[in-house]
Formats: sequence, structure tokens, C-alpha cells
Amino acid sequence: MDELITLLDENLICTGMDISSDFIYFFVTSTRKECVCPSCQSVSSRVHSHYNRNFQDLPIQDKKVIVTLSNRKKFCDNPSCHQTTFAGNCFIDNKTKKTKRLKETIMEVSLTQSYVSAAVYLTKHLVDVKKSTICNYQKKCIGNKYRED
Ligand SMILES: [Zn+2]
Repeated sequence: MDELITLLDENLICTGMDISSDFIYFFVTSTRKECVCPSCQSVSSRVHSHYNRNFQDLPIQDKKVIVTLSNRKKFCDNPSCHQTTFAGNCFIDNKTKKTKRLKETIMEVSLTQSYVSAAVYLTKHLVDVKKSTICNYQKKCIGNKYRED
């Protein structure tokens, strides 16, 4: 099971697991000692606090996957940086509740059908997702494409 978790980030270790009829829960923690501040790119290892963060990942054997990450918030010690603390994760965007690879799968499924039927299909087989969430992902994706051109 550790191997599945390290596919998300090589510094993650699995500290526990729980299985219900519909879900698999993973409890993970990061062994990464140093993180890079997203604002000024300084490296910091000074821990501010710990917090838990839940997000969904791709399903395993028809069970939806919920990961609880025990994360460390770090101080940014650069005096000229406007950010005093930050949480560094490369495998998951700030504030999002789904991993990148799960979002990509949601996008693929919803490209070939309506948002309503995509939401029904995804909720049944992959992940609990609302029609409005799919709609937001698609809008962001199209927005990015226009910016690249
Ligand atoms: Zn900084």
C-alpha cells in the first residue's frame, strides 16, 4: 500500500488504513523536512503547526479513496517575503479536495458526455462529484488553453 501512496509524492508514508463497503481511507504523513515557500522560493524547515487535510484520489477496486494527510505548516524566514507561513505540497494544489490525477480523470470522463450524466457516472464509479464542480474544472481548463495560445 505504501507504493500507491508514494506515487502521489515520494516523501509520503502510509501510517494507517481503513476499509468500509464503499471507501478506502488512507492516513499518510510526509517525511519531507524542507519545503520551498511558494511566494519567495526560500527553503524552510522550521515547523509552525500540524494539521490534517482530507482529499480524494483515484478509486481502488471500485472503492472510493479518501486520503487524510497529516501535514506541517512551515514558517517562511525570509524577512522580505509577505508570507509568514506556508504548506508545501507538490502533488496537490492548495485548497483543492482532489488529487491532480483524479481531476484529470474527471475531465476525461466529462468531455464525452453532459455534466449531468458525467456527475452520475463519476459518483457511481469513481468519486463523489457535483455537476457544478465538473463545470468549474472545464471552464478553468478552457481558460488555460486560451491563455496559452
Ligand atoms: Zn517566503
